[in-house]
Amino acid sequence: MKLVKKILRWFPFTILFTVLFSLNSAYGTESLNLFRIGTGGKTGVYYPIGNLIAQGISNRSIVITKNKNETAQPYFSIAQNSGGSIDNVKGILNNEIEAGLVQADVAFWAFQGKNIFNNDSRGNDLRAIASLYPEKFQLVVRRDAKIQNMLDLKGKRISVDEFGSGTLSVVRIVLDAYGLKENDFQPVYLKPVYTHDKIENGQLHGFAMMAGAPMEAVNKLLNIGITIVPIETRTASKITKNYPYLVPGKIDSGIYPGIPETSTIQVNALLAVSKKMDEDLIYKITEALWSDNTITLLKNGHPQGKAIGPSTALKGLSIPLHPGAKRYYLQHPERFTGLK
Ligand code: GLU
Repeated sequence: MKLVKKILRWFPFTILFTVLFSLNSAYGTESLNLFRIGTGGKTGVYYPIGNLIAQGISNRSIVITKNKNETAQPYFSIAQNSGGSIDNVKGILNNEIEAGLVQADVAFWAFQGKNIFNNDSRGNDLRAIASLYPEKFQLVVRRDAKIQNMLDLKGKRISVDEFGSGTLSVVRIVLDAYGLKENDFQPVYLKPVYTHDKIENGQLHGFAMMAGAPMEAVNKLLNIGITIVPIETRTASKITKNYPYLVPGKIDSGIYPGIPETSTIQVNALLAVSKKMDEDLIYKITEALWSDNTITLLKNGHPQGKAIGPSTALKGLSIPLHPGAKRYYLQHPERFTGLK
């Protein structure tokens, strides 16, 4: 049984390495050109959306050659699990991944070297390829926990995501806006995927997540009876004063069956890279992102993917565009308006 579990755990990697190995043999001995995209946990939205974008990029077979006689392999893109936005920024700056999905507020702090990135000037290298979709603060709790507003959290057991997630930094901002401290309740630091069983069996009252909607982690709990705790617009507006990229928003009714419209705060999800990435490569990655093929993949692959398109690309960017992305947008003013 143990052996079977082990094999199953490694199965996806085995497939990936077989694919990479075959690509490598098909294209000779040069090293493979990887475009890794840092995402988040398995039941969030970054991961499925990152996977669809990676598929769109790989389908495009991007080749970058700097001189005529050179032969090069096409880029192969994959989405990687991660702790979330903060981990993705660190991964980009440490050259561990080529790109990452990052909350606009986290990208802004990294770029400024402030707040969670206090005294770390490396984030100044962070650049955007595009803005993708709004992420909503979702504090999801068991209905029988009787948590109707943030102040009811006192004494409850709630998972607030891992260190390295953008979610945890937003949780802290929201708590502060309500005059609450992390030890006013019993925080647990887990990715949503590890909270499911604990919420189901009552060990945890709920979990928080800053993510697109709908996300799998919420859908999987609908049958036990859950509610989403609102952030009133008044408090959300108060947060915006100090954190300009966190703005009032709502989770529309019907996004999750049985959950009514809920006010909350939201932030845009960006696709970010380092300014050190090759300009031609990022031009072609941007072109691949907005190709009909990728847009169709996104539309058919995840409900949140339907909201991603050229009209979102330049909305709510908190860091400068990468020059390769900017060149692409400037060459297509009919689809991407408002850029100078
Ligand atoms: N925004 C979240 C974070 O940075 C991740 C959201 C997701 O996985 O969809 O932690």
